[in-house]
Amino acid sequence: MSAWVLQTVKRRLGGRTCPYEVQAEPLPHIVVQSKKDFTFWPASATECTPRLLVNHYNGCTHRCFFCYSRALPGHFAFFEQDGCVAVFEGLERNIERRLRRLNTLYPVQLSPATDPFQPVNERYELTERIIDVVTRQNVPVDVLTKGRYSDEAIHLMARHPYSIGQVTILTPHESLRRKLMMSGATTEQLFENLNRLRCAGIYTILRLDPIIPGISDNLDDLCAVIQQAAAAGAQHVIVSAMRIPYRMRQQVFLRLMELGATKEALQSLYTDRYDSSLHPKWAYRKPLFDELKAEARRQGLTFALCREFVHEAGRLRGLNQDYCTADNCEGRAFPKAFVQVGLSGLG
Ligand code: SF4
Repeated sequence: MSAWVLQTVKRRLGGRTCPYEVQAEPLPHIVVQSKKDFTFWPASATECTPRLLVNHYNGCTHRCFFCYSRALPGHFAFFEQDGCVAVFEGLERNIERRLRRLNTLYPVQLSPATDPFQPVNERYELTERIIDVVTRQNVPVDVLTKGRYSDEAIHLMARHPYSIGQVTILTPHESLRRKLMMSGATTEQLFENLNRLRCAGIYTILRLDPIIPGISDNLDDLCAVIQQAAAAGAQHVIVSAMRIPYRMRQQVFLRLMELGATKEALQSLYTDRYDSSLHPKWAYRKPLFDELKAEARRQGLTFALCREFVHEAGRLRGLNQDYCTADNCEGRAFPKAFVQVGLSGLG
């Protein structure tokens, strides 16, 4: 064993138990060799645009207390137990091979369930390697983060005219941001991200996602974020109210109560249930979404919601029908000329 190996952890997946050496730097993680590449996310009832999803790290040391991926199975669940991020080293080679066999140019999104610029990326630079192989094949990337974009990532993203850079900013107050997550970029760096992306010619999105009821839902603060983001170069805003995966409800409620919420208030607020999650009642969400849509319009930005629904006549109705002011939830449509028919190779 090398001197820098702290210990091993065992993970049981797919009926097999595998030991992994824990690497200590920059934060505890394991390296996983796998044939994994991406997951196809089709256009569906979720209102999402179709795309290819990549989670090259499983687990995220930014540790937002509300992180939805904490309810996911597999290496995400093991991260909750042993604190080691799974690093899929070499994943970019799998993606490169797979893309060559596909007849589609849907964007590749990094990373819907983990942060591509968490500290472990400084050692492995998987994010930059994946952007490199994807854009080399004339496929755009859609990157979202609460971390700091590296200069190299922005340089590589800018190769493709339809790449998208998304930045999540929960609050204008750095002191509050630090209570909501353990690391990640500072508030100043987050606004700088928007400016650096836009200056590089990349389509730039602000995510107010999620808005945390009673904690980060002050309307003046949220409008200030939109105004500052517009000044920094954002072109589109995506908004959601915090949902709570049902299996995480106790731990999330506890943290919200530590931050000042009362149990009674939370129970009367979180009454809508869909998507295996609890959502704030519509009477709370509607005025919030109305005001933020109006502020986005005043600032010259387009607007959309992310996975927001309402129960209507016994069915779920997607709210982007009423709220989206752009071509789609991500602001602009991917030109049909780039999308060749057929999805051979997609499982
Ligand atoms: S940055 Fe994203 S993936 Fe990481 S803990 Fe926060 S919500 Fe989860």
